[in-house]
Amino acid sequence: MYYRSTRNKRVCVTSAQAIKQGLSAEGGLFVPESFPGITSADIKYLSGVGYTDRAKFIIGKFLTDFTGEELESCVTKAYTKKKFATDTIAPLYKLTDEVYFLELWHGPTCAFKDMALQILPHLLTTSMKKTDEDKEVVILVATSGDTGKAALEGFKDVDGTKIIVFYPNNGVSEIQKLQMVTQDGSNVGVFAVNGNFDDAQNGVKKIFTDNDYKKILLGGGYSLSSANSINWGRLVPQIVYYFSAYADLLRNGEIEEGEKINVVVPTGNFGNILASYYAYKMGLPVNKFICASNENNVLTDFIRTGVYDKNRPFHTTSSPSMDILISSNLERFLYDLTGENDNIVSEWMKALSETGKYEVNDDVKKKLASLMWGGFANDSETADTIRDTYEKFGYVTDTHTAVGKAVYNKYIAETGDRTKTVIASTASPFKFNQSVLIALNGHNSVVGKDEFALLSALSEQSGMTIPASLAELKTKPVIFDNVCEKNQMSRAVSEFLNIE
Ligand SMILES: *Cc1c(COP(=O)(O)O)cnc(C)c1O
Repeated sequence: MYYRSTRNKRVCVTSAQAIKQGLSAEGGLFVPESFPGITSADIKYLSGVGYTDRAKFIIGKFLTDFTGEELESCVTKAYTKKKFATDTIAPLYKLTDEVYFLELWHGPTCAFKDMALQILPHLLTTSMKKTDEDKEVVILVATSGDTGKAALEGFKDVDGTKIIVFYPNNGVSEIQKLQMVTQDGSNVGVFAVNGNFDDAQNGVKKIFTDNDYKKILLGGGYSLSSANSINWGRLVPQIVYYFSAYADLLRNGEIEEGEKINVVVPTGNFGNILASYYAYKMGLPVNKFICASNENNVLTDFIRTGVYDKNRPFHTTSSPSMDILISSNLERFLYDLTGENDNIVSEWMKALSETGKYEVNDDVKKKLASLMWGGFANDSETADTIRDTYEKFGYVTDTHTAVGKAVYNKYIAETGDRTKTVIASTASPFKFNQSVLIALNGHNSVVGKDEFALLSALSEQSGMTIPASLAELKTKPVIFDNVCEKNQMSRAVSEFLNIE
């Protein structure tokens, strides 16, 4: 199987090359040239095996240049009970006879990004070997919180890699900062940047496009790569858990063979929901994709009108990992909906970067309307949903997952559709403890409490155990107190790598 670029379909590379490179040279994203089929017999097989076998089966359909041993090694290193604190890796929680939460947050950093970032380092180092790359790979990450920690945990102590994370000095939550500055591992570096997330992101982009600096790195034996969600190696592991959820529903007698389900995904960069669509293209029986946004509802408007317009105020919400106005992975979806029309996709992406806006054609509008339903929830609707779900079912969700549930409730009210539905649960409620506790008990309940008192309060109320990785932050030593100026980020990299 080969991979094409969404902006130039003549580009044709192996999966190892696509994963190593991250982004195509002309700025397009790598997409598989075809989608392997999954039959109902395959799904039956999946319902009889555990998560690592499910992962090996699905990922293997795409990474055809990897050997069976290479795949086996990648999946068994990534999806262990030790790292995910559960045998099933991505368990389903049955809320009602119609609604199930797919819990994707049992990994080491308590958010769904672990599902991909635990395996990406292994896919990447294997890809480096397969393409005869002799350099050590340096992963640079600018983070607004979740991705940085998940990437650090994934890459720590992985041979042949170094990872450097830049976060905005005053732009991440206390828990997120603690998670990063206490990071262990022999190959990790963490820097606070005096600036906001955009400054950190621009600094990283500058390093990536600075050819002189890249030569210096090469001279030191290093090549650069990225761990963000445009990398095919982050997308392909996410397809697995939609099949896994379906296989569990079938095994538990919740659905009949071939029965269609709805999928609800709290969405930011459009990676997670795209993975569910790719599962559908392979043969997963899906009735409707429900795309849930917070007040940054650019995708809701797009799905309803066909106009993508990022020229709007940016809202800081209680679901910060979805505070995003440019959903990069939408480009892959458009490539598919246009019948792989690289010219038209290039045009729209050019319009987006020049004017912040584009409008798709009628054919794409029609397809969008038949496949997807878009909706959004503001912070107060999100908080109401957290409280309501707890009061009715005794189940506590985080803010991002609650956006998904709130939008699903709106979908039901509008359509009356009773199809069984899987809602992607993207973070542990403990990771956003303050917002969750305020939703449950009001503002006064959190006054004067530090992060650890909040964790205890949430544990008591929900009956859930505090994830070990968050509880241990209290006693972990701070390793990184480096702060760098936003125009000094390449110097920070050089000093970390010990090169001129
Ligand atoms: C990253 C993230 C999202 C958004 O996922 P996308 O793939 O970017 O759409 C939703 N919830 C949480 C908790 C996240 O960390």
